[in-house]
Amino acid sequence: MTKLSSRIDAKRDDLIDLTQALIRVPTLNPPGTHYRDICELLECRLSARGFACELIRAHGAPGDSDTYPRWNLVARRDGTRPGDCVHFNSHHDVVEVGQGWTRDPFGGELDEGRIYGRGACDMKGGLAASVIAVEAFLEQHSDFAGAIEISATADEESGGYGGVAYLAQQGYFAPERVQHVIIPEPLDKDRICLGHRGGWWAEIETKGEIAHGSMPFLGDCAVRHMGAVLQAFEDRLFPAMAARHTDMPVVPEGARQSTMNINAIHGGQPENPPDFDGLPAHCVPDSCRIVIDRRFLVEETADGVRDEVIALLDDLKARRANFDYELRELNRVIPSMTDRDAPVVTTVAQAIRDELGVDPTYVASPGSYDQKHIDRIGKLKNCIAYGPGVLELAHKPDEWVGVDDMLGSARVMGRSLETLLLP
Ligand SMILES: [Zn+2]
Repeated sequence: MTKLSSRIDAKRDDLIDLTQALIRVPTLNPPGTHYRDICELLECRLSARGFACELIRAHGAPGDSDTYPRWNLVARRDGTRPGDCVHFNSHHDVVEVGQGWTRDPFGGELDEGRIYGRGACDMKGGLAASVIAVEAFLEQHSDFAGAIEISATADEESGGYGGVAYLAQQGYFAPERVQHVIIPEPLDKDRICLGHRGGWWAEIETKGEIAHGSMPFLGDCAVRHMGAVLQAFEDRLFPAMAARHTDMPVVPEGARQSTMNINAIHGGQPENPPDFDGLPAHCVPDSCRIVIDRRFLVEETADGVRDEVIALLDDLKARRANFDYELRELNRVIPSMTDRDAPVVTTVAQAIRDELGVDPTYVASPGSYDQKHIDRIGKLKNCIAYGPGVLELAHKPDEWVGVDDMLGSARVMGRSLETLLLP
């Protein structure tokens, strides 16, 4: 065990305290509460350790308002000579609590080596582990090259537009400023996440004509038209997607192909409000809408994904009487994939071998995370997700993170800093 590793292990209590303190700030998103509080907590700690801290509000980002301002923290400490900058980026927001908890979701309870709470694994445990790793590194090595940055950013759980996307637009992830990015999302301490699939979201509406329900032939049923759309998806789109495999090491394996979810369907009159129990009126629906969530691979493009759906709909339009539709794209996210021989990947991989005595597993995420903004806006390809915690616990009741896992990953992060900043 290296001197730095022992130093990190000796910070066990500090790591527990910090993780608990972070969990106890309920940074719920939506709507985005206590963002400034958690940034100030970290600012207070890191400025005492020589970091230059900036509190940055994402003015004008989706969701930003005076009631719910989107605050971010970027802390930087420069070394004694020029070199690369290593940036640890964690999102500080957490998702809603939900039902089924047996622990206080904002209590940060420690029980048998696990710390419980909303955000414990996703990803306040990873944030705390990176802070401890960096602080131990600075104590061990007063003389280092380059710079270390730690950021705590808003809104990852709702797309990251008030967080990393905003910072990237302001130049915080420009390649001349930052060379290596590690995002301590909960991927297990022996796995390196190289990237994620892309996403394309759209609403499709079929049109009809309203008429009396007893004489449907006098109108045109938009729900039946949508039925034809869904049938075309079943017959043609789903089999085509299932046949498309990827070189991305996506886990779980079911996501190692293109997928599509139909998030919602609605046709005809609105459902009754809870305080109204009357009977529905008899009408032929003149509109039916679905929302689709199409996840795609590095081997595909967002335009190709969109054109495939449009071609199917246009084909229906040509073949089916009175069929008409509207398609509204809601959002798109590019897939991101860092090369296995990128410096941050080989460095962390070696640190996992040295520190944990196992070969790393390379994975990619089925859903996206903030890497997309660092890649697309920041133009920085040398980025991975690496951090403690079990991905399957994210967003679940009684979410927890293991203290030993946090320490293990902190040792890997510390050793990676030694490789990158002590040339
Ligand atoms: Zn997360």
